[in-house]
Amino acid sequence: MEKVAIVTGGSRGIGKAIVEALARKNIKVIANYNQSEEKAKRLKEELEKENVSIDIFKADVSKREQVKEMVNYTIKKYGKIDILINNAGIDQEKMFQDITDEDWDNIVKVNLYSVFCTTQEVIQYMISQKNGCIVNISSIYGINGGACAVAYSATKAGIDGMTKALAKEIGPSNIRVNSIAPGYIDTDMNKRYSDKEIEQIKEETPLEKIGKPEDIAKCVEWLVEDSFTTGQVISINGGWG
Ligand code: NAP
Repeated sequence: MEKVAIVTGGSRGIGKAIVEALARKNIKVIANYNQSEEKAKRLKEELEKENVSIDIFKADVSKREQVKEMVNYTIKKYGKIDILINNAGIDQEKMFQDITDEDWDNIVKVNLYSVFCTTQEVIQYMISQKNGCIVNISSIYGINGGACAVAYSATKAGIDGMTKALAKEIGPSNIRVNSIAPGYIDTDMNKRYSDKEIEQIKEETPLEKIGKPEDIAKCVEWLVEDSFTTGQVISINGGWG
């Protein structure tokens, strides 16, 4: 039977490109969304025009009960989960002194707890089948830090730490765990940047361009097919940072 993948935050941006890439490789993809229901439906319809079918599933990945429902749905329908892409995330631009406890708790819940919780719910099935590939989307900010993005940077560094530790713990079960740390990628998350700011980022980037969601999806495709890479944080950033 074909491989089965869950992609969190799969209806737009980087997650959408990952869903498209995996689904076109004949992988059964469950594309998770939370608020973007219309976009998720449109993505499903667009892929159907290519004779590619996906499932879409609404779940707030910061809430364990909703994650459990998504995992149960997948197991009931396909009987296994081979691939988990923890992509869902939010941004937060604030001066450090202005970050409230509520801001901190919210971004930790959505960006970091979601990876812990979703992985925990999925991993039992990967352990019993002695096979699995987990890819966490972290960020260049988790490695280098970003001004006015202390909480975001902390969650992304946390993801990389989780990746390295979990890879050691579950490697003997033939489960690979890796992070991809993107640089600047052209998605809604970066809408707030002006054209001038984007030009500046391009100038600071050795490859003199900004990334596309497909640049990240290509690496996910490779990690899914690979069999000897684990515990790594792979930077895809055009040399920026
Ligand atoms: P985006 O276009 O803003 O998309 C964010 C995605 O996360 C959406 O699909 C959204 O789903 C989902 N999401 C947010 N909160 C969620 C929740 N509670 N439950 C389920 N899904 C949730 O951002 P993006 O650029 O594609 O970002 C994808 C990942 O890449 C993020 O983890 C981000 O931190 C990381 N990243 C991005 C960049 C960049 O430059 N773009 C750089 C480094 C790292 P709904 O719309 O359905 O709610």
